[in-house]
Amino acid sequence: MKITAAVVRERGGAFALAELDLCDPRADELLIEVKASGMCATDLHGRDGYYPEMPYPAVFGHEGAGVVRAVGSAVTEFKPGDHVVMAYPWCGTCPNCRSQRQTYCLQAGKLKHAGTRADGSTLVTLDGKPVYGSYFQQSSFGNYTIANERYAVKVRNDLPLEILGPLACGGQTGAGAVLNVMKPQAGDSFAVFGVGSVGLSALMAAKISGCDPIIAVDVHEHRLRLARDLGATHTINHTGRNDVVAELKKITGLGLRFSVETSAMAPIFREAVDALMPAGTCVLLGSAPPETEVTFNMKHIQNGRVVRGVIQGDSIPKQFIPQLVDYIAAGRFPVDRLITFYDLADINRAAAESASGQTIKPVLRMPH
Ligand SMILES: [Zn+2]
Ligand SMILES: [Zn+2]
Repeated sequence: MKITAAVVRERGGAFALAELDLCDPRADELLIEVKASGMCATDLHGRDGYYPEMPYPAVFGHEGAGVVRAVGSAVTEFKPGDHVVMAYPWCGTCPNCRSQRQTYCLQAGKLKHAGTRADGSTLVTLDGKPVYGSYFQQSSFGNYTIANERYAVKVRNDLPLEILGPLACGGQTGAGAVLNVMKPQAGDSFAVFGVGSVGLSALMAAKISGCDPIIAVDVHEHRLRLARDLGATHTINHTGRNDVVAELKKITGLGLRFSVETSAMAPIFREAVDALMPAGTCVLLGSAPPETEVTFNMKHIQNGRVVRGVIQGDSIPKQFIPQLVDYIAAGRFPVDRLITFYDLADINRAAAESASGQTIKPVLRMPH
């Protein structure tokens, strides 16, 4: 069938709308009418050629939400009309997938960034030539796509789909770091470094958990204002300051029980660890360039402190995303406050306003 999607024709090129031909779903696949898709930094990294295995021309997008329009012959979990969010892919057979660590799937790079299904086949063509989609096995920057039933998550249909896509990556990354990894108790101190969409999702989850104080650190005053609206008890504007660790110790007395690093900057990561109390935990979510290194004080870590990285919030999407949707319905995870909507045709403006920090979470509405 004919679809409209945003195509990047060469590494580092702009997005441009094009009419493509999409194949039919296979036995274990779903045809999804995409209603809206979040845009995440990883899409811009894909556009800009950060992934050596990614071929072009390519369609990106991995925070898609839509309606099932057709199902393959072996699909039993979904039917046409179901509302779905498309989550990250995993192989299901590697040692990490087999031990419930599927967010650390050893095949993840290939499944996310090779531009094809696991077997190397492509789903879309332009003028008869292949276009590489299957970004995170979904390529949601188009009005229709094909998703594998394994990675699609059925969600309740009484909420607007256009706000649910960001749960697929940024939402569950931030919220899962708190609810699945830290599991704080009421009254635990918490700070988040960087309050973009991932940091604010972590902050909203810290509020759900009853953390107190909840401290947001950032350089953008408009983001810190929103952080206060969403539950921060304290905010620190990092601009021009070198006493942030001392300030955090002043607020908490003992240091932080939990910290979250989303900035991807080594000096900030160090602060998020230095501000921990004994036996405190810092979770790293920020994606730094591969050569980035950081140093810590050994005695400081020895005193029970934990530093660990987390991908996709350690979440099992078919369980965790419906849980987050219930929090949205209850008014406890107001993800809509993070969103600025754009038409797919304005995708380059969405990318620029996201990169500048003006927009926290761009969501693209698909043409239909
Ligand atoms: Zn795997
Ligand atoms: Zn993402």
